[in-house]
Amino acid sequence: MGKVVLIVIDGLTAAAFESAVEGGDAPTLALLAREGSYRRAVTAFPSLTPVCLSTLATGAGPDVHEIPHLVWWHRGERRLVEYGSSFGALRAAGLTRALRDTVVDMNRRHLGAGAVTLFEAVEDAGLVPAAVNFTCYRGRTRHAATLPGVPAVLGPRRFFFYNLFESDATGAPLAVRNRASGTVDAYAEAVGRWLVTRDGFDLLVYYLSDYDFASHVLGPDDAGLELVRADARVAALVDAAGGLDEFLDRYGVVVCSDHGQTAVLRTVRLQETFAGLSGVRVTASNRAAMVYGDDPAALARRLEGHPAVDVAGWLEDGQLAVLGDPDAHPDGRGRLLAALRNPNAGDVVVSAAQGWEFRDLAGRHHAGGGSHGSLTACDSEVPVLTVGIAGEAERLADVAPLALAHLGLVRTAA
Ligand SMILES: [Zn+2]
Repeated sequence: MGKVVLIVIDGLTAAAFESAVEGGDAPTLALLAREGSYRRAVTAFPSLTPVCLSTLATGAGPDVHEIPHLVWWHRGERRLVEYGSSFGALRAAGLTRALRDTVVDMNRRHLGAGAVTLFEAVEDAGLVPAAVNFTCYRGRTRHAATLPGVPAVLGPRRFFFYNLFESDATGAPLAVRNRASGTVDAYAEAVGRWLVTRDGFDLLVYYLSDYDFASHVLGPDDAGLELVRADARVAALVDAAGGLDEFLDRYGVVVCSDHGQTAVLRTVRLQETFAGLSGVRVTASNRAAMVYGDDPAALARRLEGHPAVDVAGWLEDGQLAVLGDPDAHPDGRGRLLAALRNPNAGDVVVSAAQGWEFRDLAGRHHAGGGSHGSLTACDSEVPVLTVGIAGEAERLADVAPLALAHLGLVRTAA
């Protein structure tokens, strides 16, 4: 029975990981790779951070964890939920409501009651879970916010979330000072150092988000400099343990990302395809979209021949019906079905064609940069490196069971 450090580098493609490790741009990751076992795994669909981190945390697909997209229509409350496609999209959805959805209600209300997070499973076993900046954080310990007006949440015993929730005083600097200069990951690093120095956890989920931010702006092939910085954030944990041997003696390690990215050449407002239809809602962002309406087959027919649409899926008598070829993509059929069997998903779920992006609520996009969300291998394949941990992760959903097994825990439910 050991302890686990799970390191998540948001948006890191398998190709970027492999070339950085081979080319020497990521010396710490290269040292870890020499000691461990590496493979590409397939993430959830839509391949967007709220969906994928929920899969990573729960070991389950969106049919179980119920987080459907970055933006979705809440049927019960008859309103949009927006988790931060862009600042403009947050504003368009109503800033206060959208921030509350992103920071509090995704975990408190939207995350499926039938899913069990790593943090819940670890704490139920009497062990100590810790998380830094990780957005799917539901746990068993109540944490009051550091800002007035933000409700208390249930998180891991040791919980650090952008200075908004802090279970311990670590002296880490304010996280959201200046995003582009890396202050978010600098905060994660300071907290991570503090935790490893004290060996203050059984499971640590260490989430680095700056890489995805850079890759959206620069494109997935030009974010190499940001990976050098992420590598240094990992090195900080190793140093805090007293070196690589000590780090690996103490912890089983997983390094992975939540999704890949692809270059964006063209963008479209998918809402226009459904303009004038009453009772139809379109939620689109990055490289996935959902359409809510009474006649999914008729809605899907409107997408036929649309250059931005690669695959559209819907359910007919509980069975998968498709436009396009999901089998052209890794586990395309299975992942599309899991997306559609989410009670919060649209009646039609859409995966974008290569090079295309759907503009968000505010019309924002990443043309000239990178994006993700589709079924394609570029968006869906993620690097998974395990060191000192038995078993292989073919899917991102396999990481949680491997981590729990290393901790000597059998999963309680799924
Ligand atoms: Zn992203």
